[in-house]
Amino acid sequence: MRPDILNPLFAELTSLKGIGPGLAKPLGRLGLARIVDALFHLPTGVIERKAVAELDEADVGRMILVTLTARDYRSVGSSRAPFRIEAFDGVGNHVSIVYFGRNTGWARKLFPLGEARRVAGRLDRFGDALQIVHPDMVEPVDSEVSIALREPVYPLSEGLTNARMADIAAQALERAPELDEWADAGLVAREEWLGWRPALAAAHAEPDDARARDRLAYDEMFAGQLAWMLVRQSLKARRGHPVTGDRRLRDMLKLPFAPTGAQRRSMDEIEGDLAQDTPMLRLLQGDVGSGKTIVALDALLTAVEAGKQGALLAPTEILARQHFATLQAMLVGMPVNLAVLTGRDKGKVREATLMGLADGSIDILIGTHAIFQEAVTYRDLAVTVIDEQHKFGVAQRLLLTQKASRPPHLLVMTATPIPRTLLLSNYGEMDVSRLDEMPPGRTPVDTRIIGSARLDEVVDALGRHIDAGKQAYWVCPLVEESDAVDLGSAEERAASLKQRFGDRIGLVHGRMKGPDKDAVMEAFSRGETSVLVATTVIEVGVDVPNASLIVIESADRFGLAQLHQLRGRVGRGAEKSVCLLVRGEALSESAKARLTMMRETNDGFRIAEADLELRGSGEVLGTRQSGEAGYRVATPEQLQRLLPLAHDDARLFIDRDGGIAGKRGEAARTCLYLFERDAAVPLLRGG
Ligand code: ADP
Ligand code: MG
Repeated sequence: MRPDILNPLFAELTSLKGIGPGLAKPLGRLGLARIVDALFHLPTGVIERKAVAELDEADVGRMILVTLTARDYRSVGSSRAPFRIEAFDGVGNHVSIVYFGRNTGWARKLFPLGEARRVAGRLDRFGDALQIVHPDMVEPVDSEVSIALREPVYPLSEGLTNARMADIAAQALERAPELDEWADAGLVAREEWLGWRPALAAAHAEPDDARARDRLAYDEMFAGQLAWMLVRQSLKARRGHPVTGDRRLRDMLKLPFAPTGAQRRSMDEIEGDLAQDTPMLRLLQGDVGSGKTIVALDALLTAVEAGKQGALLAPTEILARQHFATLQAMLVGMPVNLAVLTGRDKGKVREATLMGLADGSIDILIGTHAIFQEAVTYRDLAVTVIDEQHKFGVAQRLLLTQKASRPPHLLVMTATPIPRTLLLSNYGEMDVSRLDEMPPGRTPVDTRIIGSARLDEVVDALGRHIDAGKQAYWVCPLVEESDAVDLGSAEERAASLKQRFGDRIGLVHGRMKGPDKDAVMEAFSRGETSVLVATTVIEVGVDVPNASLIVIESADRFGLAQLHQLRGRVGRGAEKSVCLLVRGEALSESAKARLTMMRETNDGFRIAEADLELRGSGEVLGTRQSGEAGYRVATPEQLQRLLPLAHDDARLFIDRDGGIAGKRGEAARTCLYLFERDAAVPLLRGG
């Protein structure tokens, strides 16, 4: 059970003062639901405001705090023109307060004519006049709310202001208790770290406080390392299913190709593991298209040959169904009973599948996490394969939900070519097989970089491409990261392409509901639509060999690993594929380096190493939550620098300080709960 002291942190954010259900959505988009989420949602910068009495003391372009009085409203012309409030400072200098949008009622309420207001915002010049567009804060002069001159800046989403987020963080901090130290005392002293609670407060107050951030990142890594070690230790201490197949099924497989050397080596390694008494814990690492599927199938069939069952866990409904179709086609005419189970299967179909699993008539089950729910019992599950498993903790949880006295062998497959330095952070001490050799006959994707000014040419090229009967992806970045940044949203892009190409355009994005999303994807994979406009949801998506063009808009805003994953959607058929990276105008050095790297190589492992070196702090979409690793505090840079410390300390904790006994044990247990690695808690000795 979670220690009582942590309970307040797992309450909903809507239990905070002034946080209504209306904010749940914008908060949810940032992954913030509970107090603990807000605690680890750290600011990325600060606003420094200059308090001025008169506007001519202020520099254009600076954030200022000034008292202004509204004299007049102006909303001229069309409804699209901005609403202007003509305001003056104490000595009669004029400034326009500008609001975009149709509903101006609330702006009038903020600035009643003739009343003084304290206004915080950025002073800009428009023509000859001064203006402040959408002030950050507006308060009556006698208001109790103070406007800070220095304020941390949080990552936001539409509908959530920085002031509101800061208030949430402050309230969350008030609820954060002091916790006993779980890190090694010597380490804490050497690094001059604050305790967890003070470090958290410092990281919120002062985004540049590197030491406080290191401390928090360390805690997260320590919890992760400890959890992996405990899982591995407990797993390796248990008896599993020694499985040796007689090859009767594998020999029946009629593959149209010979396995590559890397596939053969991986299959041998897996076969060796399966024959052991202790359960396998192995990561199969291979770039998109490297041929992981037949390696997985080989392991599953080995279990079936031995009279046992196998299961394949996919991260999404679509992928589960796609795997099912692929394997079914490969196994046609063979005495192997395959079934699929996802959250969507209900009623009789589901019942029948559950029966088949329990009585052993189903040999291999493919599905989403629904395949490991309480109600699902296997007669004799010996091999579990997890595909494209990104979320840290899933494997751990999975291992522990295996109520069976003998845990199955576990093979985790990932298409993220994680550099060796990060393997440990993401997967603990797993054994690793690498598919570092591509199947023959692949032509590398031809990658080109194009300025956004030439978007028309890109659209023309797209037209020629689909007129030739081929298909294409068009990827737009997510808009919700920041509404200040002007990115072509997927919806707008789809609408404009539709004007030209009609219903040959499909659109899929992250906010669509499962079944709707699937329908669009399926229409594309059947060739009913020619272009799939998508946000990054296609990253772990579909396999459509006829799609041989991918356009990635604002490519400079994506991380290297992401670009590589996206590009992997094409180059799957015989056709030569093209990837067009559309770049913005002003590029940072690291953005340039990323795009150049993409143009120069198709080698996922090389790209992954470069990615690690190039990633700046928060510059790139999707890096804040160090993605595949599932870390929310630790950055890739911190992982690289501090992981060895966390690893060694976790080892020390287990070997020297031994389990839960003693004060450090209690604290470490709390740490596991805090970072939600609690699936590992029962494995603490005496825990
Ligand atoms: P991954 O899951 O690693 O992205 P897949 O297993 O889907 O890759 O394989 C990609 C494609 O390559 C499939 O069409 C598959 O049939 C084919 N393939 C796999 N192994 C080989 C091989 N050794 N030779 C030729 N083609 C192969
Ligand atoms: Mg695959």
